[in-house]
Amino acid sequence: QRAKERGTGVETFGEGLRRELLERVQLESDLDRDVPDRLEVHYQPVVRTADGRPVSVEALVRWRRDGELLLPGAWLEVAEQTGRIVAVGEAVLRRACADASRLRLPVAVNVSARQLASPGFAELVESLAVPGGVPLVLEVTETAVIADVEGARRLLERVRAAGVRVAMDDFGTGWSSLGMLSRLPVDVLKIDRSFVARVDEPDGRALVETVLLLGTSLGLDVVAEGVETEEQLEVLRSLGCSLVQGFLTGRPQPVERLLAAVADGGATAARGD
Ligand code: C2E
Ligand code: MG
Ligand code: MG
Ligand code: MG
Repeated sequence: QRAKERGTGVETFGEGLRRELLERVQLESDLDRDVPDRLEVHYQPVVRTADGRPVSVEALVRWRRDGELLLPGAWLEVAEQTGRIVAVGEAVLRRACADASRLRLPVAVNVSARQLASPGFAELVESLAVPGGVPLVLEVTETAVIADVEGARRLLERVRAAGVRVAMDDFGTGWSSLGMLSRLPVDVLKIDRSFVARVDEPDGRALVETVLLLGTSLGLDVVAEGVETEEQLEVLRSLGCSLVQGFLTGRPQPVERLLAAVADGGATAARGD
């Protein structure tokens, strides 16, 4: 069909596709060149609403590509589709565990579907989780476990025996968040920021309140993600939410800057990317 359209003025469309394809090929070869050496890890604090103190951090990968710092949204999907995510994930995990001992805070690392199912992942985590050391948290999403829930359950049970905690990320956005919760060993619920964004409206507030109740009655820690305004923080506090993460209380930033922020009492904590 497309061949027939050649020379009929549809070329701009073809050109667009061609450019997209070239960009994709370039992206993949740049990833091969840069992973793992040009990956950086930024950390965003999870803060206690009672006193504003950071209680843990989340590791978030960035790619230093030709001098530009790229957020995961621009490339992580391609890494996931092509399997390069396994090398990305291993690099982040190693870096995060090394930085955790400097930060002296638990570090949460996001784990993708491919990584979770990759051979040797449990051994890698077990080798990095220091017994009695700074706790490691693995963040999984429903999408990451849906293909093989039973396999994910076994793996998470195994690393949990090594002292690793498990967080259910983006909770409430999937098709079966509740189903996942009943089938997987989970320690932390992270309320997706799409709900937090609407916490000052009646519906949003009811949703957040329900997830908080659910989490606390199951004995889980509940973190509200994506808190951007004082108003949201106030409502969350009034609902009894004790842990928040968001641009308001601290942006993702390099480990050195976070250490400096903690040292000067959090005055610079809101800066970052
Ligand atoms: P996530 O795990 O849900 O991480 C939270 C994302 O929300 C981060 O985006 C963070 O910068 C952003 N965020 C935090 N507070 C706020 C806020 O107040 N407002 C808004 N609008 N956004 C906020 P980031 O760093 O771009 O990461 C996006 C996603 O990429 C992550 O979502 C996670 O799913 C994935 N990701 C990041 N690092 C890794 C990694 O090392 N491995 C894997 N597999 N995935 C990762
Ligand atoms: Mg996460
Ligand atoms: Mg999330
Ligand atoms: Mg997310």
